Amino acid sequence: MSANWIRKVCMDIFEKIKKSFKNGEMHEAEQAIKYGYYPFFLPLEETEGTEVKINGRKLIMLGSNNYLGLSTHPKVKEAAIEAVKKYGTSTTGSRFMNGTLAIHRELEEKLADFLNKDAAIVFSTGYQTNVGTISAIVGRNDYAITDKEDHASIIDGVKMSFGKMLRFNHNDMKSLETTIEKVPEESGSLIVIDGIYSMAGDISPLPEILKIAKKHGARVMVDDAHSIGVLGRNGRGTANYFNVEDETDLIMGTFSKSFGSLGGFVAGSKDTIFYVKHNARSFIFSASMSPANVGAALASLEIMKNEPERIEHLWKIANRMRKGLKSLGFDVGTSNTPIIPVYIRDRMKTVFMWKALFDLGVYCNPVLPPGVPPTESLLRTSYIATHTEEQIDRALEIFEKAGRKVGII
Ligand code: PMP
Repeated sequence: MSANWIRKVCMDIFEKIKKSFKNGEMHEAEQAIKYGYYPFFLPLEETEGTEVKINGRKLIMLGSNNYLGLSTHPKVKEAAIEAVKKYGTSTTGSRFMNGTLAIHRELEEKLADFLNKDAAIVFSTGYQTNVGTISAIVGRNDYAITDKEDHASIIDGVKMSFGKMLRFNHNDMKSLETTIEKVPEESGSLIVIDGIYSMAGDISPLPEILKIAKKHGARVMVDDAHSIGVLGRNGRGTANYFNVEDETDLIMGTFSKSFGSLGGFVAGSKDTIFYVKHNARSFIFSASMSPANVGAALASLEIMKNEPERIEHLWKIANRMRKGLKSLGFDVGTSNTPIIPVYIRDRMKTVFMWKALFDLGVYCNPVLPPGVPPTESLLRTSYIATHTEEQIDRALEIFEKAGRKVGII
């Protein structure tokens, strides 16, 4: 008798999808689309930077990570075009093989110099940078110690490693200390934190983290995705801001925000970067950063070095908005950077508020459960160095109208 005869057919793996469309998450998404309350995947018809066009209507953009407004800067666009003219549209290969261009090396050297580190490597996205670097370093007997508000790419990097993860409460140094004490003596540990947290918009207490790390023999990696171009001298990031560049083992960043490009990087000691380069699977088994993205990133780096007034204006605009939102009675939590969350703390009210703002002419991003606990539901707003004070004042008027309509203020 053949084994096939008695073998039962297994369950349809797509069953969960069918269920989800019947009465789960997908059903809800479909209903939201039908009634015009679906805030995701909205196609932008035009994007000048501080304003976007959706369905033929112009809105003030308060939902991008284009902190320095460089994605539309003529020099950055021109550099991307020149790189395409010289190298074509794709590298068609991994950095390990045929995908290393002279401009990748140039960008890595300039970044290492900018960040005061021996060496740097560039990945095709920031996500791949975290996933590849963390999984290369955290081995079978090791621990990654993460803040509970760390970005998903950090968590995924640990999941892809053979090590274990311990999490501490957000920016809570007592919690970090008690967490790190759980690491066995024979294990290595890497503390991975965000420099500026992408939702709360607060800064990590890096000097205190470094002290605790030193006491326990841990290494420290900072995800500066939202801090490069924003914090420190000419936007050199969190370690520069706190004057602890030497003590910070690894500085990670992305080109998809202040640089107005796409890609990511990690900088550190010569040997560590050489090791990561030979072990990070997302670096080795994926095609390298495209020429246009490298060209744009190189041009943006020059602008950051030469135009610090952009960063000054970014902070001025963000502080004006934060002050305005607070005086209107909105809850902006612990934000002290150009990322300003507006906590609504109720899922449906967050959607209604998003929709009211959208209809009145402001684009921002709702952050909803299951991504966050229901009481943490919020609208994430973030600011651009090219926003004008008039745009900010108009956005505040719209926030006031929408807030009163939805009953939040
Ligand atoms: N780290 C942080 C803190 C981020 O916010 C992001 C993107 N939102 C990433 C890493 C990933 O960067 P990228 O979008 O370039 O893949």
